[in-house]
Amino acid sequence: MQDFHHDRARALLKNAEELFDKESVQAAVSRMADSLNDRFGDPSKQEFPLVLGVMGGAVVFTGNILPQLTFPLEFDYIHVSRYGDEDQGGKVVWKVVPRPTVSGRTVIVLDDILDEGETLAHVKERLLEMGAKEVIIAVFCDKDIGKSKPVKADLVGITIPNRFVVGFGMDAYGYWRNLPGLWALNPDDLSTR
Ligand code: 5GP
Ligand code: MG
Ligand code: MG
Repeated sequence: MQDFHHDRARALLKNAEELFDKESVQAAVSRMADSLNDRFGDPSKQEFPLVLGVMGGAVVFTGNILPQLTFPLEFDYIHVSRYGDEDQGGKVVWKVVPRPTVSGRTVIVLDDILDEGETLAHVKERLLEMGAKEVIIAVFCDKDIGKSKPVKADLVGITIPNRFVVGFGMDAYGYWRNLPGLWALNPDDLSTR
């Protein structure tokens, strides 16, 4: 069993293409942090945003960007998943909802990737319903899918082509969240997805 997993994981990566190396990924995270620090760094505004990391894909992005943010903030995570027929938009299910107060606050949502945008559109809508003053969507990757999305990211690290990527928190079948760069899988390896 163990060997099967090991071989499968290795085979996926063997056929994959590295789109962005560790250095480009880290540079993109730092640019995003700079931009948030510019926006929230003014002490006279006394802002105290709520930062929400969307588990599990955003765990690595979140862990990399948080120590680069220099303003007071409160952090928590949320967990949402999309189930059902992906082509029909799927159904977004909340496994963990925000515990701190959302009402009246600026909320910064950190996520790994904006693909079709259904997940983040739903998250943004729900946070606004909970009374958020403003919802800022910060995604590490924005996938160029060649059509408009139901939600727009306010801050993007890297724009990627319309390929299935792994690394920097993103997985295929649970594998390779631990890669420091971004890799696009070979489409042949996704046929049974
Ligand atoms: P959306 O609702 O935007 O289509 O789906 C977003 C979620 O799907 C992401 O948060 C991520 O979990 C997953 N996803 C979308 N594209 C990719 C991809 O290229 N690679 C991986 N590993 N996950 C993806
Ligand atoms: Mg996700
Ligand atoms: Mg996944």
